[in-house]
Order: sequence, then structure tokens, then C-alpha cells
Amino acid sequence: MVPVATNPADTSTLESLSGITPALRAALARLGLTSLADLWFHLPLRYEDKTRITTIGDLRVGDTAQVEGRIEAIEKGFRFRPQLRIAIADDSASTLLLRFFHFNSAQVGQLFVGARVRCFGEVRRGQHCLEMVHPQYKRLTDAVPHDVEERLTPIYPTTEGLGQKRLGGVIGRALDHLPQDESLELLPLPLRSENHLASLREALLYVHRPPPDADLAQLGLGLHPAQQRLAFEELLAQHLSLKRLRSRLRAHMAPVLEGDGALRRAFLAALPFAPTRAQTRVADEVARDLGMSAPMLRLVQGDVGSGKTLVAVMAALVAIEAGRQVALMAPTELLAEQHFANFHKWISPLGIDVVWLAGKLKGRARDVALAKLQGSAQIAIGTHALMQEGVEFDRLGLVIIDEQHRFGVNQRLALRDKGRSGAGVPHQLVLTATPIPRTLAMTAYADLDVSIIDELPPGRTPVATVVLNGTRRSEVVERIRAACAEGRQAYWVCTVIEESEVLEAQAAEVTHAELTTALPGMRIGLVHGRMKPPEKQATMEAFKRGEISLLVATTVIEVGVDVPNASLMVIENAERLGLAQLHQLRGRVGRGSAKSSCVLLYQAPLSATARARLDVLRETGDGFRIAEKDLELRGPGEVLGTRQTGEMHFRVADLARDAHLLPAVHKAGELLLREHPVLAERLMARWIGHAARFAGA
Ligand code: ADP
Ligand code: MG
Repeated sequence: MVPVATNPADTSTLESLSGITPALRAALARLGLTSLADLWFHLPLRYEDKTRITTIGDLRVGDTAQVEGRIEAIEKGFRFRPQLRIAIADDSASTLLLRFFHFNSAQVGQLFVGARVRCFGEVRRGQHCLEMVHPQYKRLTDAVPHDVEERLTPIYPTTEGLGQKRLGGVIGRALDHLPQDESLELLPLPLRSENHLASLREALLYVHRPPPDADLAQLGLGLHPAQQRLAFEELLAQHLSLKRLRSRLRAHMAPVLEGDGALRRAFLAALPFAPTRAQTRVADEVARDLGMSAPMLRLVQGDVGSGKTLVAVMAALVAIEAGRQVALMAPTELLAEQHFANFHKWISPLGIDVVWLAGKLKGRARDVALAKLQGSAQIAIGTHALMQEGVEFDRLGLVIIDEQHRFGVNQRLALRDKGRSGAGVPHQLVLTATPIPRTLAMTAYADLDVSIIDELPPGRTPVATVVLNGTRRSEVVERIRAACAEGRQAYWVCTVIEESEVLEAQAAEVTHAELTTALPGMRIGLVHGRMKPPEKQATMEAFKRGEISLLVATTVIEVGVDVPNASLMVIENAERLGLAQLHQLRGRVGRGSAKSSCVLLYQAPLSATARARLDVLRETGDGFRIAEKDLELRGPGEVLGTRQTGEMHFRVADLARDAHLLPAVHKAGELLLREHPVLAERLMARWIGHAARFAGA
């Protein structure tokens, strides 16, 4: 740790502010605001424009506007629930209806026909005229002149019991204490001029107090130079913290894993196919890392079906040959089981002891597995159960994590700690089938090296994809009947809006029943996440053996499932899923030599964006292109998965919007680490804090 981790200007307490009562202090603390700097960096979520009054006649549906008018009628009624309806009108002779569902008698007493009110809210279309539901309002007494606001009103994230006005007031007073000099500034002047960045002071004052002529649309999008200045700084802090995580990890020792390659040769000799050039290249990159005493941290990106498992096997063989143990972890039981089956088939014949460990393994079987990890086991395969308390390895040398996007940084750290013993930490290999656009990968995985398998095994044919309205379901069922009559196999994937295993299982059961009725005589199987593993397993096996023609499934089959004879896939409500997920699902077909197709069913009406998204899948099978498009159309949260976004929480920055800043941010990161390490520390402290997030790295 560099001793001065924070900027002196960042740590002054709230003492210097007037009006800080214990209650207010407590409310601020709930928001994590305990110093002046916390208040300076508590940034508005959005802005309201109360700098002018719009006449009712000029209102349009969807506007958020401020209006003034005289109450023409009041009606307190009860339709389904208590309701207060107030009609107001202004000189434009149009009427606006204000509706309240929560109100008290004091409020009602204040309002009477003839009173003047000013209100602010979103304009909606009502039955008879335009409406505002629960607008902000105040009664105007004619005695006092009523000015409009001079500036846009910032709206801050707040907490129960702390109103916008009060919070805005405290922040305003805190801003009066912003240092005039450079003491707040952490970006060196040359860096700022090179990137045309305003000073921090200017940027903060602008976002908290935008002038009335500020471009509200630009501010709303976060594209104002002042916001971009802050985003730059935040991205830089985040980048630096990942780099630090990496260098701290690299400072540990890892076992040097090398051998004579005999296991790998024996394995490849028995394999019915040859690895692709890309697989060999990536396996060599991994082997080179394993031969070093610094821990490997490598991400292997490869499209669905590119054969990442083979690379994992080759890596495992290096570690095993060097006398070390390997842990392979997958995000779902189904996928872990399949890895176990593959590894068992491929490497048990070489005399390697493969052990299975999942959460559901209980009692004696579990004890036996745990004992083996302390002894004969050479590779353990399972789910996150491998990270749980009580699981101890004897000589873990390599950790392989499949489908990385479902595991977060913290889980990566936890598994690595399992191997933290005598000879240091294990090497880590992370496999992901969700190709991540380069810019995003550089930020989300700045702590990892990246290898890319950019080639599919030979003989794959592109999957012909069509997008169809759900009303044409019966045609699709017909198509399945025809395909299965020819001995082909098909998947029918059911989805639901919420991420709920229960609802998804129900949807699949209903569809299974419907299809069973519609396709008499056909063997139709069902798998979903609520079934017992042996039951699931049995169905999958039967599907693999061709005893089942049509498999109705939930998105549990997304990862890893491999049945080459399956050549038709139907995905219901495809518009609800992310492109990357659809691409993953579709990757279940097109694995054999038969021409494959995928039908994306949607529920009309389909928005223009949703249509554009589905069209991307129709047009390309390239996972990287799909990921780029997904990023463009949906933003990084969706591309990286929810887990990842939980960790990549930004205050101002937005990876999709601000991706153009990243090259400059990375360059700035190098400069800071090289020439201003103390500034780098302070930046991280300011934006990332001392959160436990990277503790122990
Ligand atoms: P993913 O990258 O999606 O995890 P897998 O490792 O599951 O892909 O491989 C997909 C399929 O391709 C498997 O059936 C696997 O045995 C097969 N496969 C992998 N590499 C090759 C290769 N070089 N030649 C032919 N088939 C391969
Ligand atoms: Mg895989």
C-alpha cells in the first residue's frame, strides 16, 4: 500500500457545513456520504427543467413539464381505490387533469376551485384530456411573486427520509467549499490538455449546477464534456484497480508446470479428430504460461462450438504431468456433468483419476470425493461446490473456470485461494463462450490475458435462421413433424420474462403437454432446471442416443449440451433473450454434418430495436459480430451478464456510451503508474474506495 491513499482535499468531514443535524448526518451516512468529497461526488441521476412554464395548450404526451393554472374542478372519488382528480386550466383554454391516489385531508383542504397551482410532472394521454399522475405541485398565493428556477434542478439518488430539496441543499453548501486551487485535481495538466478535459472543479460545478441554457438532452445522455470528464476519471480509476489486482496477483508465486508432453501426445493420438490450428495455438499459449513461476491468468474466448473443452483438457494434462491437481468448475450442474463425462471418456484411459464434486453430492459419496482431493485425485470437476468450505486440495496447480461470464471476480479469487499454500497460488484459465467486444474485454478483464480461438472445427455448416411471428406456431410444429420423420432431432426452447426457474419450468411443462397432443406418436422429452439431476441426465442421454426426437427444454440447455444429430431448434419468445444468449442456444444445433436451422418465434408487436436485434442473428453466425451488435443495441450490462455488471457498477461512466474513451484511458493509466503512482492510488481511493472488493488480492 502506498501510504497516502487518499487526497487530503477528499477527506474533510461534514463539520464545516451548516445545518447538519444528527438525523441528517445519519441519512447521509446511509447513502455512504460522510465527507465533503462524498457530497461533491454524489452526482445527479437526471435533471428537471423548472426554468420555465409551459402553457397547457402546448403540452405533448411524454413531455415532462411545468405548468401553472387555476383549479376548475375537484372530485374526490373512489373507483377501485381512492382518487383525487383536479382539473386545471390556463389562458390557453385547455384543461389538464391531475390525478392523485395517495393524499390526505390537509392536502385536499388546501386545494379549492379558483386556487392557483404550479405543477411539474410527466404528461400522459387521459380519457378526455391530458393528465399528470402525482405531479409535484404547489399552491400559489397571489400575494407573492413566483419566480421560476434559474437553473436546471439536479435530481440525486437519495434515501428514505431525505428529500431532494434537503439533499440538494447540503450538496450545494458542500460545493461552496470546493477548493479553488488544484488540490482536488488528480489528473496532471498535460494529460488533461491532451484529452481536452476540463478541470475537475469546473466539471463538478457544471454537473451539479448546469446553467439554464444547458443542453438537457445532451446532459440526459451523459454526453456533456463535463460528464465525459468525470467518466474518463472513473474509467481510469477502474482500469487502474484491475491492473493493480493483476499485478498483486502476479507478485505471488505459482508452481512451474512442465513435463515432456507424453500425456498430451497419448491423448491426441487416441482422439478421433485433430485439433484445429487455433486450438493448438491457444493450448501452446496456455502451456507457455503454465511453465512460468508467475500465476497465469488467461481468458480463452471462443465461439460456441469452437472446442474450448479440448484446450482445457490439454492444459489439465500439463498440470497433471507436472504432478499437480486441476480443478474444473462450471456454472451449472448439467454442464459440469457433461464435462465430467467428456474428461472421463478422454483422459481416464490414460490412467488419470477424475473426481466428481457437485453441491448435490452428499454423505458418503461426498466424503470419498473429499478424501480423494487430499490424495489420489488428479482432476476434480464440479460446480461452485468446489469452492465451498471444507473442500481442500492437496496440491492444486491449475484452476479452470468454464463460462466465465457467470462467475465474478470475487469467485475467481475464492477458488484461487483454495490453492494458496506452500508453493503459492494456482494458475487460472477462464473459458468463455460469450465473445466480448475488444473494448469491453479490455476493461472488464483488464486483469487477464486473452487468447482467442477464432476458428471452428471443420465441417460445420452455418445455421439457417428465420424470424417468425408466434402466430405461425402451427407451421413450425408441422416442420418439426417433417424433420423428425426423416430421423432428425429438434429442440424446442421455452423462455419466460423473469429469470425464474419455477416459471420457466412451468412454461416448459405446458409446452411439452401441448406438443405431445399436437404430435401424437412422437417421442418428446422434457428437461428443466427443477428436475432432479438423474432424471435430467436420463432424458439427455436418451436424446443423445436418438430415442427422443424432440426435446422441450428451458434455457438450461444453453451451455455445453452437445448432440450433433440435433439440427432444428425453435426458440419461443426469442425477443426476450439477449443476443448472446440466443447465439449460445443456437449453437446447440449445427454441430453435425446435417444442414441445420433455427426458428426464432416472437410475440407481436415487435419494436424496431427488437426486430433489428433478431435480424442480426439472421444475418450472421459470428459470435464476435453478434456481441458487438448486442453492445450497441443493449449496453454492456446485458452483454456481460448480471453478475458482471454487479461488479462493474459505475457512477458516471457507461461502457457502451463511453467505449471511445477507453484507448485514451488505458494510455493515461500507463502514464500514471509510471510517473504518478501516488495520484493513481488516490484516484482508486476516490472512485473505487477501499471496498472489500479486491481485498486480499
Ligand atoms: P465449446 O467451445 O462450445 O465449449 P466444445 O468443446 O463443447 O465447444 O466442442 C464442441 C464439439 O466439437 C464437441 O463435440 C467436440 O468434441 C468437437 N470438437 C472439438 N474440437 C474439434 C476438432 N478439432 N475437430 C472436430 N471436432 C471437434
Ligand atoms: Mg463449452
